[in-house]
Amino acid sequence: MGLQPGQFKDLAELNQLPFLTKAGIRANTDALKNTQAQGLSRFNTGGSSGEPLVFFIGNERVSHDVAAKWRATRWWDVDIGDPEIVVWGSPIELGSQDRVRAIRDRLMRTQLLPAFEMSEAKLDGFVAAIRARRPKMLFGYPSALSHIARHAEGRGQRMDDLGVKVAFVTSERLYDDQRATIERVFGCRVANGYGGRDAGFIAHECPHGGMHLTAEDVIVEIVDSEGRVLPPGQAGEIVVTHLATKDFPFIRYRTGDVAVLDDRACACGRGLPLLKEIQGRTTDFVVAADGTVLHGLALIYVLRDLPEVQAFKIVQHTRQHVCVQIVPASGFSAEQEALIVKGFQQRLGSSVRVEVQCVDAIDPERSGKFRYVVSHVGA
Ligand SMILES: [Zn+2]
Repeated sequence: MGLQPGQFKDLAELNQLPFLTKAGIRANTDALKNTQAQGLSRFNTGGSSGEPLVFFIGNERVSHDVAAKWRATRWWDVDIGDPEIVVWGSPIELGSQDRVRAIRDRLMRTQLLPAFEMSEAKLDGFVAAIRARRPKMLFGYPSALSHIARHAEGRGQRMDDLGVKVAFVTSERLYDDQRATIERVFGCRVANGYGGRDAGFIAHECPHGGMHLTAEDVIVEIVDSEGRVLPPGQAGEIVVTHLATKDFPFIRYRTGDVAVLDDRACACGRGLPLLKEIQGRTTDFVVAADGTVLHGLALIYVLRDLPEVQAFKIVQHTRQHVCVQIVPASGFSAEQEALIVKGFQQRLGSSVRVEVQCVDAIDPERSGKFRYVVSHVGA
């Protein structure tokens, strides 16, 4: 486009640059890699739109994101080396049994509990593991942590005597009742975080309730549907420029999430600007034929693994009936359809009817936000 670095005098001029979209990354995945980059790690995410996305992350980027996480952790009087319980669902991460990860987890005193299956027996095991570890912090999806909390409460098991200082939640919208349940049962505060593998560690809640942006690393713009930058106070799509991504650049990356910027200062005194409200991010639980509650990601990962699927939405009507809407990419055939049916039946039960519908496009919710799992079965 003939742009020169010297043309840019301040942040407002960032809008001379085009947006980086998920479709843009998908069409240029290899071309986006810096030819000098070494040790790039491959990641795969559905993002909030449910469209599978493959991208790469370099070491510098990992260091910055980890540092941002630990800074936010210290706001809550928890530090490196304090025991931590992580309730997470990514089979990619759960599946990596490599020694480096095992050593790292031991050094960091992290214990991972897989959030896929939430059967009664599994939940009893989670409660026991948390009691045995006596973690200073919990980390996980708000849906999963509140589910464990409700289970402990139902069993009459106290969890507020373990010395848990804070529960960090991320990856989903945090609902007020989830926050209240986790705080009541674990006897600790809940700290909300917003970010993703793709967009980075964008914002984290401080003990005064402010969602502080990681402003040294991440420039956040809020834009309307025509791509115009909006002032604080107005809701729009979050666009992220991550400054530690020269190995695989994320410059004006459209996240698909909706939020509002705040222009007031936080009462805590920290100078990092605030994100006022995050309206996006919803995943949900689904219920298997035998009543086992599963995180929606268990089904999402089946679809994410298929490059022939461009976008999707899963709707669970009953325990015996699930519909999957697919926007097919080239190469989608009966073979992929069979893989989807098989993958879903493995997780939900072999008797479950899995209906695959190919559509031209998937309509967003009224909020403008995509929900990629909707379950009408009460968990
Ligand atoms: Zn603050």
